Amino acid sequence: MHPAGGGAALGIGKASVRDAEVKGRRVLVRADLNVPLEDGKVADDTRIGASLPTLELLLEGGASVVLVSHLGRPKDRDPKLSMAPVAARLDELLDAEVKLAPAVVGDEVRSLAEKLEPGQVLLLENSRYEPGETGDDPELADALASLADLYVNDAFGAAHRAHASTHGVARRLPSCAGLLLEREVSELTKVRDHPEPPLVTVLGGAKVTDKIGVIERFLDRADEILIGGAMCFSFFKAEGRDTGDSLLDDASVEAAREVLPRAKRAKARLHLPEDLVLGRELSVNTEVQELNGVDVPEGWMGLDIGSNTAAKYGKLVAGGGTVLWNGPMGAFELAPFAFGTRAVAEAVAHASGHTVVGGGDSAAAMAEFGLADRVDWLSTGGGASLELLEGAELPGVEALNDA
Ligand code: ADP
Ligand code: MG
Repeated sequence: MHPAGGGAALGIGKASVRDAEVKGRRVLVRADLNVPLEDGKVADDTRIGASLPTLELLLEGGASVVLVSHLGRPKDRDPKLSMAPVAARLDELLDAEVKLAPAVVGDEVRSLAEKLEPGQVLLLENSRYEPGETGDDPELADALASLADLYVNDAFGAAHRAHASTHGVARRLPSCAGLLLEREVSELTKVRDHPEPPLVTVLGGAKVTDKIGVIERFLDRADEILIGGAMCFSFFKAEGRDTGDSLLDDASVEAAREVLPRAKRAKARLHLPEDLVLGRELSVNTEVQELNGVDVPEGWMGLDIGSNTAAKYGKLVAGGGTVLWNGPMGAFELAPFAFGTRAVAEAVAHASGHTVVGGGDSAAAMAEFGLADRVDWLSTGGGASLELLEGAELPGVEALNDA
């Protein structure tokens, strides 16, 4: 799904794995293999698939690969979050032998790394088994660096974290960007800084406080900002409307209250829904009603945008030269509240402009509707893509050698 290897990525100002001399070298690759597990197996291998082009490029170029990723948030060394299922799936997908190391670092791991032959892969255990990972501990970074002669960061989804495996280690070895990371940064930077106008941004979902920064950044860059999902209730509350039992948090209402007056003077037109679909509770069998308006009565939750709003948003998306979508329009996992998200997904899929979709749940919605291959770029990194879009520097990218 991610032809990262084939795309003409714009330069991102960082050294690229495409230009690296790798024959006979041992390369430490940080990938984002943080996949969902079910019954001890990989439930969705999208992220593993997205990491393959860089691995294949290195292995075909005659390198041996030491591969590292985190998986979930293990307490101590919870064996349920071992990389074993990932190693098994990777071994099936890659035309190379994949061994699993018994730990992240240490003498035994080092000796396994030293024995690697060109074309072989050693997957380290879950980087978060090491307590020093999230604190960017220098000793852990040293130990990781001692395993290889070149470091490639392909973990875009973790690039907003300054961890030992994404940041500290990059300072200790010659380093460069992997194909996926390079393409992600290039695609998202282009939308942020050089979009083909008009730029239509569709924002929704539930993680409102994480996304307010993107709205602020795009107020003077986008032409249209379309708000849906639980996010719209932060704005409605800030406008003094009734939001009933809709999902809301105080911090995002405060932030929305600051955005509203700025939006009046901004380049972008900020659109809020004009109708809604309500439910009594977040469940598939709940009582449902359509509301021609946006004041939600007591005892009801707003769970989707209404059909007029969906039609209007669809038209605006169709007219975009560039379309950026992050965050579902409603609780789309439940059939009665999927209409608005489906309408936006269809509009994005059929839009003639350049289309970029970010956010784990929005990407899952595209996949569920069978439209994932109809967008120009489907970002694999949730938090990282938001931080890049709002203009923050990503420590995992910054730490790499310049081009
Ligand atoms: P993404 O992963 O695409 O960035 P988020 O994680 O911010 O999106 O939000 C996705 C979640 O938001 C989905 O699980 C969806 O059910 C939920 N959601 C969207 N709209 C509403 C709403 N009006 N009320 C409750 N939940 C909502
Ligand atoms: Mg999400």
